[in-house]
Amino acid sequence: MMPVKTFLEQVEDLELQDTVIAADSGPPMFEGIEEESLACSSCQTVVTKGVSTQTLHALFQPPGRLIYHCDCGAHAEVPAPATVQAS
Ligand SMILES: [Zn+2]
Repeated sequence: MMPVKTFLEQVEDLELQDTVIAADSGPPMFEGIEEESLACSSCQTVVTKGVSTQTLHALFQPPGRLIYHCDCGAHAEVPAPATVQAS
């Protein structure tokens, strides 16, 4: 598999249900060994290196959207994995 870089799409307005995360000790927020890396679509900053959207969602288990608050001021949505729907 080829490493992929996913650019997180910016959102304009936050909602009550949103879970907002930020890199306290500077990006990247997480480093791992997965094929997927995430980056801010606004400033191109690497948000996670080798950590997938799926792993982030599994980690935070947000009730609503998972939003990354970037140092550039952008709020970027970490897309939910398509197959996470529990029955
Ligand atoms: Zn940014």
